[in-house]
Amino acid sequence: MTDAGKALPVSRRPSPNHGERRTGPTDILLLHYTGMADAEQALDRLCDPQSGVSSHYFVHEDGTILQLVEEERRAWHAGMSSWAGETDINSRSIGIEIANPGHAAMAEDNRLPPYPDLQIDAVIALCRTLVQEHAIPKQRILAHSDVAPARKSDPGEAFPWARLAGAGIGHWADPKPPQGGRFLSAGDAGQPVEALQTMLRYYGYGIEISGHFDEPTKHVVTAFQRHFRQQHVDGVADASTIQTLHDLISTLP
Ligand SMILES: [Zn+2]
Repeated sequence: MTDAGKALPVSRRPSPNHGERRTGPTDILLLHYTGMADAEQALDRLCDPQSGVSSHYFVHEDGTILQLVEEERRAWHAGMSSWAGETDINSRSIGIEIANPGHAAMAEDNRLPPYPDLQIDAVIALCRTLVQEHAIPKQRILAHSDVAPARKSDPGEAFPWARLAGAGIGHWADPKPPQGGRFLSAGDAGQPVEALQTMLRYYGYGIEISGHFDEPTKHVVTAFQRHFRQQHVDGVADASTIQTLHDLISTLP
């Protein structure tokens, strides 16, 4: 088996939910949170033949890593999704489920449940191994919300992408602090909206270039912020959001 278990302590918990990969190469890492209060329940679901969902790897809060599906097989975690023109993300990706209750467990002060350091250490080690093994480009280490912005918000804006980037995992540009300035939001139309959509699409997001700041555009801007400008996630393309997007595009490998 040509899997990360050769390089890392990984236990097996086989899921029956997988099939043949239909396209290739395997060059996306897709990160998720489980969105459930109980990690064991989430794991049971990913291994339940009735659920129709799975992932290749599962990372517990204490950093324990489990492998559910062999990397050469197509696991079922992305659903309807799109990135850089590809819509069969399951065929192109390795899916990692990270135990975290997510937005459903948001506290009254709007705080999301944090990811423990031990867990993130394990995610970094796992990603590093997979990136090396499959030669996955930095800019293709993605959030589920990046590839399915209208449906998904995981792993969420509490996920420490900056820490991963500091460890060499993923594409990153330090976001400018949000401070107002000229911005675009729902209902706006015209050339500046078209330019924003063009940049988002160029980066990889599945977005129509319509010149109208419609609901799908708001979802994509929100997804972008969850990943790259986490301080303020509101679906409004303010100066900081646009500058951060610009910085990412100009540093694409
Ligand atoms: Zn997900």
